[in-house]
Amino acid sequence: MAQAKKALAKKQRGSSGARTLANTYLNYIGGRWTPSESGEWSENRNPADTRDVVGRFPVSTNEDVDAAVAAAREAFDSWRLTPAPKRAELMFRVGEILMRDKQEYTRDMTREMGKVLKEAGGDVQEAIDCTYYAAGEGRRLHGFTTPAEMPNKFAMCVRQPMGLCGLITPWNFPMAIPSWKLMPALVCGNTVVMKPAEDTPLSTYNLVKACEEAGIPPGVINLVMGHGSVVGARLSDHPAVRLISFTGSTETGQRVASACAERNAICSLEMGGKNAIMVMEDADIENAVEGAVWGAFGTSGQRCTASSRLIVHKKVYKKFNQQLVARAKALRVGNGADEKIEVGPVINPDAVEKIMSYIDIGQNEDGATLACGGRHLTKGDYANGYFIEPTVFTDVTPDMRIAQEEIFGPVTSVIPAKSLDEAIEIANGVQYGLSAAIYTQNVNRAFHAMNDIYTGIFYVNASTIGAEVHLPFGGTKGTGNGHREAGTQVLDIFSEWKSVYVDYSGKLQRAQIDNAKAIG
Ligand code: NAD
Repeated sequence: MAQAKKALAKKQRGSSGARTLANTYLNYIGGRWTPSESGEWSENRNPADTRDVVGRFPVSTNEDVDAAVAAAREAFDSWRLTPAPKRAELMFRVGEILMRDKQEYTRDMTREMGKVLKEAGGDVQEAIDCTYYAAGEGRRLHGFTTPAEMPNKFAMCVRQPMGLCGLITPWNFPMAIPSWKLMPALVCGNTVVMKPAEDTPLSTYNLVKACEEAGIPPGVINLVMGHGSVVGARLSDHPAVRLISFTGSTETGQRVASACAERNAICSLEMGGKNAIMVMEDADIENAVEGAVWGAFGTSGQRCTASSRLIVHKKVYKKFNQQLVARAKALRVGNGADEKIEVGPVINPDAVEKIMSYIDIGQNEDGATLACGGRHLTKGDYANGYFIEPTVFTDVTPDMRIAQEEIFGPVTSVIPAKSLDEAIEIANGVQYGLSAAIYTQNVNRAFHAMNDIYTGIFYVNASTIGAEVHLPFGGTKGTGNGHREAGTQVLDIFSEWKSVYVDYSGKLQRAQIDNAKAIG
């Protein structure tokens, strides 16, 4: 029975081989799958082969957002009053469904986003891990008690849900990032409207479908697809939405933050990065090169934590570059659905244009050395996709644009440094502060760097990527606004503290005033 249901669902959704039958997907509002009131659709195509139409997705309007917010509002009281352990039980069911359908979601993700199968599987796994981890909080959601300063008085602090939350997400981790926001929001008792990126609605649709199947009540989760400038902007402006949790570019995040500030809504931002790996003269060079290759070219360099700067001690600069370039040249670029492929396409034609413009800037404006790569691949198997060669620039100086600006593609810059202190200064010398790493065998150097690097995440002898869901995730400076996702710290985004005092003395006791007398 379950198998037949699965087969039917698969048939309705189509297989990745179907190039002509585009499936049509709907918004999810108040527990109903519904088209946009615009009646318009946008086609989502496979970035590795644009002849492959992944599906048609609604181009939603302000009215669709308003309907979703109204549904979330209606569902809020009964969801917040559902005991957290009961909310969590439903979430554990979501985790089981995600586990059951992991392979299918993985293939869908590779098809709509381009990342290679192994990495798409990792993205789905992250959503699973996050779901179980957040569900575990259903039996904790710890507040605290603390002594009151008066006799016969009790003091405690409890978490309350924020209310209605708007979740705006990017395309590069199309199931993991929505789950990072959705799961803690749910366990804390909030209701949500989700707005996935234009290029990757299917993975978020899959996540919401799993929630529906698990029995999360209607209206608790609403999904509205469409353009950021309409759906995202309306959500950010909506007077009933108490919190916006946004992940995306710094430019868009600042716009969202301004809209939230106008109406005193809470805004949590996770934005761009320009992450550095520092390689010291005592490093295990082979290990450092592997970390650099994985960090710079995994997900075709389209990670907020991508290792887009490699700051290498002059004593090992030549050796490191030789090995790095050899590894980069050997990477197999192609359709991520082929298990032999190591680097998939980039997301869309705008990304190709942006990345190629930076490759041009690197050579012709900055004057760096193009050590390998640099070409937009357009022939043969590449003819119908968005492929760019893994690209390494050497002789890069810290002030060059390619060393300062987020390129978000398979391009990395190797910058020489003469000491650890100089490497740290270079690493800190950008507007972003997400992740950094050091390769060294010297514990003193490692701790010195850990202490002086101004980022939210730091690795020793590992690449700048590879976050785990039980540790806080986020960045300093231009990357964020002080919040952290994941870990238990995310609960501070999706809940508010309420301080509760219980006076059982049976008389008026005045804090600060009567207490002072008692001591005196
Ligand atoms: P983006 O800023 O273009 O879009 C992000 C989301 O915002 C999308 O859903 C988009 O539709 C929406 N949006 C666009 N305009 C909007 C508006 N005016 N109001 C409200 N929403 C709007 O980013 P992207 O290209 O999807 O993602 C890439 C960026 O995301 C990179 O800069 C990357 O570093 C960053 N990112 C950061 C993290 C992190 O945790 N720090 C994680 C992943 C990606």
